[in-house]
Formats: sequence, structure tokens, C-alpha cells
Amino acid sequence: MIKITINRERCKGCSLCIPFCPKGLLKPSESLNSSGYHPVEVVRPDECTGCAACAKMCPDLAIKIIKEE
Ligand code: SF4
Ligand code: SF4
Repeated sequence: MIKITINRERCKGCSLCIPFCPKGLLKPSESLNSSGYHPVEVVRPDECTGCAACAKMCPDLAIKIIKEE
């Protein structure tokens, strides 16, 4: 089982990760974090393959992929 987590407070809303998701699952959320940024969110987490392309691109290490047996 794949679980993707995005740390809303770490994310600065730069959108760098968005085009790297081959399934188009990332988009800026409508709400703001405490720094005033729109952190990204996963629109259909059940479709995430855990490829980690997004996590590798994030300069702020805001995205984590957890693979559970
Ligand atoms: S791990 Fe891969 S499939 Fe999942 S959101 Fe990131 S880029 Fe998309
Ligand atoms: S690359 Fe990182 S900081 Fe930039 S929008 Fe994506 S998760 Fe947020």
C-alpha cells in the first residue's frame, strides 16, 4: 500500500513538483498555510503509484512516500 503525505507547512507553493507527476495528481490547494502559501495537495491519492518523482523534485522535502506491506 502506498501512502503519500505532503507537509503543508513545509510546502512553499512553488509548484515545481506539479508537472513531474505522470498521472497529474498534484495541484495547489485553495487554502493557505501559516506562511501564506498555497501548498500542493494530491487530488486522487488512490491513484498514486508511489513513483516518488514529485518527492525527488521538491527542494523543501515536503513530500514523503510511505510504502506499507
Ligand atoms: S509519487 Fe508519483 S504518482 Fe504519486 S503523486 Fe508523486 S509523482 Fe504522482
Ligand atoms: S516542490 Fe515542494 S515546496 Fe514546491 S510546491 Fe511541490 S511540495 Fe511544495
